Amino acid sequence: MKFFRIGFLCVVALSLFSLAGAQNASEDLLLHGMRIIDGTGKEAIENGSIYIKNGRIAAVSEGKMDLPKGATAIDLSGKTVLPGFVNMHAHFWPLDQPNHRTVAKMMLAGGITTAFSLGDIEPEKLYDFRMKVKAGEEIGPTIYSVGPYFQSGPASKRFRTVNTPEEALALYEKWKDKIDGIKFYVFIKPECFEAVLKAAQKDGKIVTGHLSSIKTEDAIDMGINGLEHGIWTIEELIPKIEGTGNFCRIASMNLDTSALDRIIDKIVEKEVYVSPTIVPMEALWKDQPDFVPNWKMYLGDSLRLKYNPPYSSQQCMPGLFEKQKAFLQKVYKKGGLIVTGTDPFYPNTPPGFDIHREMIALTEAGLSNMDAIKAATLNGAIALKKEKDIGSIEKGKLANLVVIAGRPDLDIAEVANVISVIKEGKVYNTAQLRNECIGGIKLSKSSK
Ligand SMILES: [Zn+2]
Repeated sequence: MKFFRIGFLCVVALSLFSLAGAQNASEDLLLHGMRIIDGTGKEAIENGSIYIKNGRIAAVSEGKMDLPKGATAIDLSGKTVLPGFVNMHAHFWPLDQPNHRTVAKMMLAGGITTAFSLGDIEPEKLYDFRMKVKAGEEIGPTIYSVGPYFQSGPASKRFRTVNTPEEALALYEKWKDKIDGIKFYVFIKPECFEAVLKAAQKDGKIVTGHLSSIKTEDAIDMGINGLEHGIWTIEELIPKIEGTGNFCRIASMNLDTSALDRIIDKIVEKEVYVSPTIVPMEALWKDQPDFVPNWKMYLGDSLRLKYNPPYSSQQCMPGLFEKQKAFLQKVYKKGGLIVTGTDPFYPNTPPGFDIHREMIALTEAGLSNMDAIKAATLNGAIALKKEKDIGSIEKGKLANLVVIAGRPDLDIAEVANVISVIKEGKVYNTAQLRNECIGGIKLSKSSK
């Protein structure tokens, strides 16, 4: 036993990479020598230590802490440690193909330790998967979920719809003990929206929406907590131009209006979070360089051979992103709560890599590097109402950490250089997890 222990220590002394395979889940760790960005927006600590005990952060300090009894020391000199990322708009079914295991692993590999699943096409299966992650039987971020979409209109493969308040409330009752929030979708009928919103609010759920049938301002007045897709779904401000596609109508929006100012003031005043989801739209933009050039390697054979990104209506794409970024700039200047959601669906913006690009896109909208990091960490935790447990590197919180080779506060592109991820004190090696995901996104049996 003693020999084994010494052997183990030699392994961990080599690198964090080796530790990922060898660490026992209950190991207490002392990380030292690294820069710490705590997620609150404060300046980085240049040389800090983090003591992890029983999966939680037991202490954070500048300089090297004395090695606590029973803890294993890991030298992270030259690295930067960030809080685990919160993806506020997650899905586990790229291209309508449920792929829970691969997607979850890819998310974790990229540093996403918390994922808010914003609508499932197989909510029962996602719930089972979530429970398995919780029990340690599957690997992935901690999953919170809205369960099924709340949508009206004819039912489709993706949506079971609700068309009366009674139906909507029945669906809510069926799911309320298994979900953390509600996601309203495009065609939800106002009477269904109102009935479920009230019930969900009473139960303290997080209510968000990809709105269209409901005006954004009305939804805010009624108490919605989050807005998905930013300016792109503030339907009441998008000009109705006959014969023009939605992207071009958005690209022609005028953002200097008192109506938008009023909406932004309400977003700020009522602490409504804004999830702009820039990345999934970039997946459709031909001129946007792939941030993962070899993204096709994550697709299974049959999908890899036949899939190409569905590029269309490219002429309005630059305007589409310009408007989103101008909107975010306004929200940011007034102090609104901006979060990162990546809406993973198109395989050219693969899960786990997507959140890095989303942070970079936020800086293109004028956020400071530190505030883009905060959007992906503490802001997400606040939006999820989990800030007591996650979102920043502070004593008492869960030890959810991302180890980065680089200094993303100085160069935000370096946020993509994730080398390992710690979730509740357990270390995962990014390259190893990603290797396990090669060829892993597959067509489900029914659609082969
Ligand atoms: Zn979505």
